[in-house]
Parts: sequence; structure tokens; C-alpha cells
Amino acid sequence: MHELVVNLHMHTNYSDGSGTHHDIARAALKTGLDAVIVTDHNVLVGGPQGYYTADKKRLLMLIAEEVHDQARLPQKSHLLVFNAAREMATFAPDPQQLIDGIRRAEGLSFIAHPFDLECKPIKELDIPWEDWQVQGYTGLELWNGLSELKERAHSPLHILFYAYFPRFLASHPPARSLQKWDELLNLGNRVVAIGGSDAHALHAHKGPLRAIIYPYEYHFKTINTHIFVPNPLGTDAAADARMLYEALAAGHAFIGYDLPGSTRGFRFTAQGREKDAILGDEISAEGGVTLKIKLPAAAECLLLKNGELVQRWKNQETCSYITTQPGIFRVEVYRRYLGKRRGWIFSNPIYVR
Ligand SMILES: [Zn+2]
Ligand SMILES: [Zn+2]
Repeated sequence: MHELVVNLHMHTNYSDGSGTHHDIARAALKTGLDAVIVTDHNVLVGGPQGYYTADKKRLLMLIAEEVHDQARLPQKSHLLVFNAAREMATFAPDPQQLIDGIRRAEGLSFIAHPFDLECKPIKELDIPWEDWQVQGYTGLELWNGLSELKERAHSPLHILFYAYFPRFLASHPPARSLQKWDELLNLGNRVVAIGGSDAHALHAHKGPLRAIIYPYEYHFKTINTHIFVPNPLGTDAAADARMLYEALAAGHAFIGYDLPGSTRGFRFTAQGREKDAILGDEISAEGGVTLKIKLPAAAECLLLKNGELVQRWKNQETCSYITTQPGIFRVEVYRRYLGKRRGWIFSNPIYVR
């Protein structure tokens, strides 16, 4: 099993971002990411998908898109579309048709920034997901970097503070997102959680002063999705893309807030009578199941069953829990960073049946 650190959900100057695909590649290589998924608004950009290298580092860049109905006002309900291999924006007016079309194209769909709020100081409207009646999507973006700025910046002073000190911004996914995710899981849906940066490398200007706030590099060190794949990345981009997306669709992934400390090395596994399982897998409760958690460093670790806390470990690196009962088990890890308790790791569930 190989762990890939992937930053996903970002924009270039093909939509409302300020950088190019090369700027993204440069920043991602510098940060040490394994892969990025670029998602411009309503355009599937051909060409830049493939490998980029620098200083013995290697990056896989995948091209996807973020689709919404541009005729809708305000422009709510954004959907991340991965691996559909064709332009899906034409389906945007009907979210269910869009999701069905993506499935037919063997693509993945993720509800983006599901509970995005209005941010008056920067005159940004709220763009949450509004079409919860839809079915058949792959998952949701539990934590979105830009949405969190909109949520925490209540005044121009906050904007200024977080622009100069972005490290103070990310704290945890919105409680509403976690609650909705548990609700959907408890209804029997398989909903894969991802963390997205929504990096734009925003241009800010005040009089003659111009600056890029939240550059790609900042985002790439921050909220990443770590994906477990069976083989290391090779030399065939199409085959690697297939492997990465298959693992993501299966929920073999966790969200890591890598700024306070790398989350590489986190593991959540289960051992049953007949087989072993990793996050995203199902395993039978018969004969008992041992859930094992390994953290990259000692931290506060929470194990949840069907959205309810079952055990909390403080300042521990390895944790285990035995169950003989079915349930949807997932892990949240918190640690202190810059004077505040912050979310560090959010795992996808192991389904004990
Ligand atoms: Zn969006
Ligand atoms: Zn976006």
C-alpha cells in the first residue's frame, strides 16, 4: 500500500485563478506533493495532464473540473468532477442529470464546499450546495480552504490578518459538514470525504500595492487528501490516474491538515476473523473486529461510531478498539497549533457490517 499526498480543487487563469498550470506544478513540486487535481470552473482544459519533475521530485498533474450552472443566480451548488474524460458542464442545469452523466462516463463527483457562507468584507456571496435531493454522487468536500476563510473573516481586519498570517486560518471542517456527512452515512449511503484547497492564488490590490494572497504553495502545505493506492506512481499517466481515482472512489483516503505537522504515516485499519480492512472497506463483525489507529505523532484521537464518540485517547500515537457490533467507524485527530486546538486528520470510515 502506498500513500499519495494529493492536493485537489484549484483554479488557474483558465477560470478565476491567477496562475498557470506551470505555476501550480512548480509550487507542488516545491512542497513535495505526489499529485494535484486542477479543477477550473466549467472547463476541462486539455493538455497539461501528466508528470512534472524538478530536483529529483516528481508530480502527477491531473485535470478535472468544477461544474455549476452559470445561469443560476446566485451561482450555488458546485460539483467537482473527476475522471469523466469529457466536458460535463453542459449537464449543469440539472444536478441529478449531471451526476448521472458523470457516472455513465465512469467519473467521480464530489459536492464542493457544501455549507459555504457569505463573506461581506470581500463581497463574496454564499455558494453552498442546495440540491440535497440528489443521489449517486461519490462524496463531499468536508473541508475547503477558501470556504474557511469566508467563514472566519467577519471584518476587513480579519481579512487583513489572515492575508498576512494565513497559518492562523485553518482550524477544522465546518461542524455542519461533519454533521451532514454522518447523517448521509447513517442513512446507508457510501459518501467519501475529501479535503480541498480551492486555491486561486488570489490577487489583492490596494492603491499601488499588489500582492498574491494565499499563493498555491501555502494551500499545498495545508489541507491535503491522502490516498492509499496499491502501487507507486509509474510512467503511464492514464494508468496512474485510473489507480488514484479507483482508490479515491473506494474511500481509501483521509484528510490531512499538513501545516502543523505532516500527516503522512496515519493509518486506520481493521482486523477481522476472515480478513483485514483499510479505511473505505467493509468488514464483517462476526468473531469481533480490532480497529487500529496509528498517528504520525502523539495527538488527541477520537473514534466515532455512526457519528457518536465511542472513545477518546489523549496524547497517544497508537490506539486500538475491539468491537463485536456493526457500525460505521471513523477517526478524527486534533492537535494544538499556534495556540489553538485544531483538526489534524479526518479519516474515511471503515464499515463494520
Ligand atoms: Zn466552488
Ligand atoms: Zn473552486
